[in-house]
Parts: sequence; C-alpha cells; structure tokens
Amino acid sequence: MNTLSTVNPFTQQVLETYNFQSKQEIDKTLNQGHLAFQHWRNTAIAVRQDFIHTVKNKLISQRDAYATLISTEMGKPLVQALAEIDKCALLCDYYIEKVPAFLQAREEKYLDKKVVHALSPTGIVFGIMPWNYPFWQVFRFAIPNLLAGNTILLKHAPSTTGCSLALHDLFSSEAFPNRFQSLIIDLHQVESIIAHPAVQGVCLTGSVKAGSAVGELAGKHLKKSVLELGSADALVILDDAILFKALDGAFQSRTFNAGQSCIAAKRIFVREQKIEEAIAYLQGKLKDLRIGNPLEEGINLGPIAKIEFVQQLEEQVKRAIAFGARKISGAEAQGAFFTPGIIVSEASNPMNQEEIFGPVLNLIPYQDENTLLRNINNTNFGLAASVWSQDEAKAIQWAHGIEAGTVVINDYTKSDPRIPFGGIKNSGFGRELGELGFRSFLNEKAIIII
Ligand code: NDP
Repeated sequence: MNTLSTVNPFTQQVLETYNFQSKQEIDKTLNQGHLAFQHWRNTAIAVRQDFIHTVKNKLISQRDAYATLISTEMGKPLVQALAEIDKCALLCDYYIEKVPAFLQAREEKYLDKKVVHALSPTGIVFGIMPWNYPFWQVFRFAIPNLLAGNTILLKHAPSTTGCSLALHDLFSSEAFPNRFQSLIIDLHQVESIIAHPAVQGVCLTGSVKAGSAVGELAGKHLKKSVLELGSADALVILDDAILFKALDGAFQSRTFNAGQSCIAAKRIFVREQKIEEAIAYLQGKLKDLRIGNPLEEGINLGPIAKIEFVQQLEEQVKRAIAFGARKISGAEAQGAFFTPGIIVSEASNPMNQEEIFGPVLNLIPYQDENTLLRNINNTNFGLAASVWSQDEAKAIQWAHGIEAGTVVINDYTKSDPRIPFGGIKNSGFGRELGELGFRSFLNEKAIIII
C-alpha cells in the first residue's frame, strides 16, 4: 500500500489519507536539507535564536489549533495537549537563553600545549518519533539541534501525520527554508535516509523493537544515534513516606496521557502492610476520573491512541493474572478505551519485565527493604524511577542504587527541558534535554595549540 490513514481514536473515523513520498521526493528533501545545513551552520547564533523565537511565537499563537490536532489524532484530553504545547514553548525559551553559553569554546592549558574545545554542528539529524507526545518529542530533539546549527528531518508516527505536517509548516520560513522538513515515509524507506552522507545522526523515541532496528541501521552506516525507548519504571514508596502523597503521584503518573508515557510509574512498590490502604485510596481517586471525549472540557482520560493497543493491554493484564496477579478493578477493554484500574502483582511476575502502556496501577508489595532494591532493579529497563521518603538523605542513598537514567525524589518523574533525559539497559542510550542533550549530535572538536 502506498498510503496511510490517520484515525480519530475517539470516533474511530478516518481523518485523512496520505501518500507515502517517492524516492525522488525523499532525495530532493535530503538535498534541500543538506543545502540548508551548509548555510545554517555558518549563521550567527543570534540569527538562529531569532528563528526559534519566531517558531515559538507561531506555536503560541496557534496553541488551540495545535492542541486540538494532537487530541484529535491521538486522543489525549485537550487540557493535556495544551500543556504539551506550553512545555514546547518553555523548552524554546530555555535553549534560546542557553545556546550562547553552551556553544562557548572552552580553553585548557597544559605545560606543553593549549587546547580549545569547540562544538560544531554536523549535518542533518533524522528524528523518528512516536505519537504519544507528538509535539514535545519533536521539539526536544529539534530545537537544540537547530540552535546549534544542524538541520532536521522528521519521520513521525503514521497516526500523527497531521501533527507532522503542522510541524513542517510551523518551522517553515521564507528566509531560512528547509531547516526542518517532515517526510511521510514507509519503514522500508528509512535505511536510505540513515545511509545518506548528509545525515549525521538519528534520534528515535519509541519501542525497544524500533530502537533495536534503528540502532542496527545507525551502526551499519556509522551514524550517531540517541535511542529513547520504553520502560517499566519503578515508583518506590519507602516506609517513612507520606503514603497518600506518593499515591497521588503514582495516580497522576499512570493516568495522565492514559498512561501512555515512557516514564510512567509502571511498577509501584508499596510496603505489604499498606497495600489495602493504598488500594482503597486509589479506588477513591479512580471514581473521580472523568473519562470520555478528549475534546470535551473536564475530561481527564481519553481513549487509547490506537485501537489495536486496547486489546494488547487487556491481554497483558490477563497474562499478569495468569502469572498470579490479583485484579482489583477496571483494567479492561471498553471499545476505544481501556478502563483505568488496579492490579496487585509480585515483583517476579513476568509482566513486570514488559512495558504496560496504558492506565494500569500496578502495585507490588514488598516485605522489607532488604530485598526491595534487588526487585526494583530486576528489570531489563532503566529509564527513570521515583523514590518517596521523608528522609532525604536516605532517599538519595536509594537513588544511587537504582539502575536508571533519572531518579526523582518525592515526585513522580516528568521530563524537564533543563535536565538530561534518557535511559540505560533496554531503555536506550544517549541523552536529550539539558546541556548534555544539546551536545548529542555535535562535533566536540579539540584544537591543539603547541
Ligand atoms: P513504535 O516504536 O513502533 O513507533 C515509534 C516510531 O518508531 C514510529 O515513528 C515508528 O514508525 C518508528 N519505527 C518502528 N519500527 C521502526 C523500524 N524498524 N525502523 C524505523 N522506524 C521504526 O511504537 P508503536 O507505536 O508501535 O507502539 C508500540 C509500543 O511501543 C507501545 O505500546 C509502547 O510500549 C512503546 N512506545 C514507547 C514510547 C516511548 O515514549 N518510549 C512511544 C511509543 C511507543 P511506524 O509506525 O511507521 O512503524
């Protein structure tokens, strides 16, 4: 098939049908991106700052339209889509302010030589992005790279092709064309793009399977890659934590975006004696959730982004139960929705090795803190975790022991433009955001002066 269609996950109506682009169109786009890079790499930082400033102003002026498009294509409640747009604007502000300092060359003196450490752009960065945060995921790799002098090519998830084209328009500029281009392509067309000499990096957010495939191609063609993949992140409620505060965090983490977030708290560790109290509290919170049309005011939880995922989620829960988990409530398919619910599973349940990408509050009881760390780390993933305790020093000790890219103390995990973000193990490698993320696709050149 040479076309793809987007579908409104709430109504299940087809929204639009698009043609995949031809090899000639892809080649043209790559050549344009390369030409744009040759010019862009030599523009003053102030010019690039102005460019991103204009993008940000356009983004804000179209805030409602973009948020509506996000909600229509992937089903998150409008208020959450608006928050996503606002976070993109914040990210622009952060990097616009920081870019002069981040690109400042650094000098080191030795007895026999002087070294200037300089950062320079490398070419086109190819982003392969998912549907769960269709603007944010793109902004967080595109903005720092554009400010650093790289240009951008985007292959978005097919289900958010409308967002992809809206982003293409948002970044388009008569004065500075082709700095950011979106492609509508099929998977078999990906390799020729990664292989193209003008493409110097590939940045993917998505599943482990996609990460592994793209990592393999990047290795084959010797291109730098940043892979931000899934996880089964732990939220750890230590015995001295304020239980209800921690459960509020867990609840928000697991129901926001219908639980379709890489850093959602997919394993919630609670002291065995407090499990029933935790269940009762979460049940009360579930009752207050308003589930429905994501475009309607007051809705907190929309449909699952793709209908096929609803069935997959139900099967995952059923498998967890077959392996001994106890279902307390919800957690079942209901048309395009997956009713949010609670299960209680043992740490050793094989489902805890999988990413459950939906609104399932998965409570894992622990007897004592001696075995807790082993159980937290008994996962193939390692993106992020959160630890809840009233004793900060103790929580920091725990954070050091947890195998993850980020550990947050006394809050659930959220990405922040200022702080590097990324994982270890099957959650991928490389970093986005912060200064470290800014450098991911730059050449760290050492100029040695004798
Ligand atoms: P995918 O990982 O398949 O899709 C994410 C992006 O990767 C899409 O643009 C997709 O394109 C692309 N992609 C997939 N396979 C390849 C490949 N071999 N080569 C190049 N690009 C590829 O996620 P799904 O949408 O299928 O979701 C499945 C599961 O993945 C979810 O249930 C969740 O567990 C996890 N996931 C995690 C995310 C995160 O934030 N970490 C985000 C999204 C999903 P295309 O669709 O055309 O294949």
